[in-house]
Amino acid sequence: MTEYRLLIDGKLVHGDMTMAVVNPATEQVLARAPRASRGQLDTAVAAAKAAFPAWAARPINDRRALILRIADQLEARAEEFARLLTQEQGKPLPEAQAEIAYTCAFIRHLAGYDLPVKVIEDNDNRLVRQFRKPLGVVGAIIPWNFPVLIVAFKLPLALLAGNTMVVKPAPTTPLTTLKLGEIIAEILPPGVVNIVTDQNDLGPALTAHPDVAKISFTGSTATGQKIMASAASTIKRLTLELGGNDAAIVLPGADPAKVAPGLFAGAFMNAGQVCLAIKRAYVHGSIYDEVCARLAELAEAAVVGDGLQQGTTIGPLQNRMQFDKVKALLDSARADGRIIAGGTLPGGPGYFIRPTIVADVADGHRIVDEEQFGPILPVIRFDDVEAAVASANGLDLGLGGSVWGEDRDLARSVAERIESGTVWINKHLDFGPNIPFGGAKQSGLGVEFAEEGLAEFTQVRIVNEAR
Ligand code: NAD
Repeated sequence: MTEYRLLIDGKLVHGDMTMAVVNPATEQVLARAPRASRGQLDTAVAAAKAAFPAWAARPINDRRALILRIADQLEARAEEFARLLTQEQGKPLPEAQAEIAYTCAFIRHLAGYDLPVKVIEDNDNRLVRQFRKPLGVVGAIIPWNFPVLIVAFKLPLALLAGNTMVVKPAPTTPLTTLKLGEIIAEILPPGVVNIVTDQNDLGPALTAHPDVAKISFTGSTATGQKIMASAASTIKRLTLELGGNDAAIVLPGADPAKVAPGLFAGAFMNAGQVCLAIKRAYVHGSIYDEVCARLAELAEAAVVGDGLQQGTTIGPLQNRMQFDKVKALLDSARADGRIIAGGTLPGGPGYFIRPTIVADVADGHRIVDEEQFGPILPVIRFDDVEAAVASANGLDLGLGGSVWGEDRDLARSVAERIESGTVWINKHLDFGPNIPFGGAKQSGLGVEFAEEGLAEFTQVRIVNEAR
């Protein structure tokens, strides 16, 4: 079995404990991973703190060059990473390959930004300049749905700005992040990036740590609330990317043949375990039956299986807890609506659920109101566009959303009224490192990516001179 190590102060080290990592397609132990103790977390934070002054003092172009080398090394080992990602996370190999390629693209794009000094006033009276200074140690907390890509949402901008980091992956998907640590250990000075793994026990210690200046977190809204509370005592900076329950609104006049594949892809990528997946589809009554029938056809055609098997289009749920949660939602969907495709669990080992389309459900049903984070799409009929907008906006979450139809003016006017961080027209799940990404309402705080994302890893410093 491959050995995995933590990265602390530039060294690859054993954990004080170990933990099993399970392949969700087989339920077999895939590897034993290190599990860091509280003492190792403290050592990692101390190393990041010690590395900070020298890292922050380096010219930004030096930092940029080193960050870019991480992308080069990852690209050179892309296939190895993709296979491991499929085995620990469950996603089909082509999706894993795409995640690695996208990770390299994110690192390369995000490493390209600059932190220019802004002259706010320059006159006979005064010179006022705005600098953007790094914060110190950034704690990055990663979920299990995109364990490599989400590291690349945070690491390039945090480091480019001059911060150092402690990265903590999710307990069920630590392996690819630890492997990334092998690459980082060869490239970055000791302590600039540290990687520690846990069994869901070290997150609170990291978020409350007095030597951590900022937490960049991606995960559930419930955990985001705990992090906000824990960060209060030290006034930590926070960027929170949290849960979503994205609505897709399919307007009257939309072409079901065009719309259904887009809805399906937007709902079932990574077995629905995507923060920005379509989690509720509101379809106008005039085309409801046809859209439902086409979605059902696509669901029946999906190939569910081990992501390493050629031809698999939908893998397992990532872990036992999520599997049990989605199964419970499936039971409530069966009681509340009409299952027109899927709804079954293939026999044998693995956390598999066939892609499921549920018709004749409504707001107030659990499968509509709760984020399923799994391969079940509720389809809700509407007759009045205003009512559909009210439904889309009716929850406390607001991460993404989409509007589908041929009438572009109507689609735009609806899109502008969806209360979420991102709204698409005639597509879903299209994002990139140059487009600021953040959640409205309880879907998040702050933004990631682009200049706006870089700014969140900095502190404004004004230098105001008398003339
Ligand atoms: P989670 O919140 O349970 O775990 C995420 C991470 O937080 C893990 O590393 C976990 O160990 C850590 N953690 C757990 N408790 C903690 C605590 N008290 N303090 C600090 N850290 C703690 O979420 P999950 O189950 O891994 O992911 C699923 C959820 O994440 C879904 O709701 C999904 O919508 C959301 N998500 C959001 C985005 C986004 O960008 N908005 C992206 C992916 C997932």
